[in-house]
Amino acid sequence: MKNSEKKDIRALSKEELREFFLSIGEESFRGNQVYEWLWSKSVHDFSAMTNISLEIRKKLEECFVINNIKVDKMQKSADGTIKNAMRLHDGNIVESVLIPTASRTTACVSSQVGCSLNCQFCATARLKRMRNLNPDEIYDQVVAIDKQSRLYYNRPLSNIVFMGMGEPLMNYRNVLLAIDKITSPEGLNMSTKRITVSTSGVPKMIKILADKEAKFKLAVSLHSAIDETRTKIMPFNDNFPLKDLKESLIYWYAKTKRKITYEYLIWKGINDEQRDIDALVEFCQAVPCKVNVIEYNPIGDPRFQQADPTVTDRYQNALEAAGITVTVRRSRGKDIDAACGQLANKSIGEAPVLKKDLGKL
Ligand code: SAH
Repeated sequence: MKNSEKKDIRALSKEELREFFLSIGEESFRGNQVYEWLWSKSVHDFSAMTNISLEIRKKLEECFVINNIKVDKMQKSADGTIKNAMRLHDGNIVESVLIPTASRTTACVSSQVGCSLNCQFCATARLKRMRNLNPDEIYDQVVAIDKQSRLYYNRPLSNIVFMGMGEPLMNYRNVLLAIDKITSPEGLNMSTKRITVSTSGVPKMIKILADKEAKFKLAVSLHSAIDETRTKIMPFNDNFPLKDLKESLIYWYAKTKRKITYEYLIWKGINDEQRDIDALVEFCQAVPCKVNVIEYNPIGDPRFQQADPTVTDRYQNALEAAGITVTVRRSRGKDIDAACGQLANKSIGEAPVLKKDLGKL
């Protein structure tokens, strides 16, 4: 069988692997062993599965491939942020970022190649959505970033945010499967509490996740609490208006009792007036929440200019007066285009900066 015709072994559940072994006349526990190599040990080569006989490994090789992702290029920012271009088995590239701070190291991972939403201020929107990532491709990003965290910062990864390329709720099945693996003792055994899924706000999906009693944190990229303005900057808002978004968040909170984080950018002439502030304060009354004001990272579109710091202060004062927690976040990794909304595979074709280190990963 040609490699391209073989099935990706990591698309199989543990049960399916056990059944495969029975079907070739082997004992089913071999399935558990291979599963452990594939997930908790993250092995990408059948020959490394040393407790499996040579004969069985050959058989596996005949039937399956392991479609792993590879760090194609790393760039390190002056502030320690590391941006990776990850090459998928089909040649597509996604980006994954390691963000170290004094108290934590966070992996910012992608959920899709490109993005189908058309947020006007986001660089990823310029790449059309090519395809969804598979659960193993999301998992591999986390494994690779965890290795980098240990190698460069001597500590394991502490947090994961789905804020890379793509809209996680447009690929929610695979995102959930990946989170299952990341949090399972048979995978990376990380706590679900340390995972944040960031969405532009797909009400139907937020309700489905609430029904599934998802344990991760939810962040919503709000940027405006006025429909007309939000539709201008995030055109899909026309289909998912704020009323529906708000209703889905009320539902999420009722089911999960977990606070929502709103991400918010402030631009000159777009959402820098008192009525924008009032609308946000009002929107925040719906469910317990906090607001993360992010710094805008320019992507070369003159329509978008970071608002004056005094406007941020006004937002902050008004929200705090209404009892809402606000954090104003400085962007990281800007010098290497690794900051929020700057992920657009710009590095492809440039010389790798840290190529010598890739062998260790
Ligand atoms: N699609 C998801 C996750 C990816 S975007 C979402 O929309 O939440 C991750 C965050 O970066 C979002 O809050 C997004 O609004 C923000 N962002 C996009 N472009 C940006 C830019 N140019 N500068 C700063 N933040 C940006």
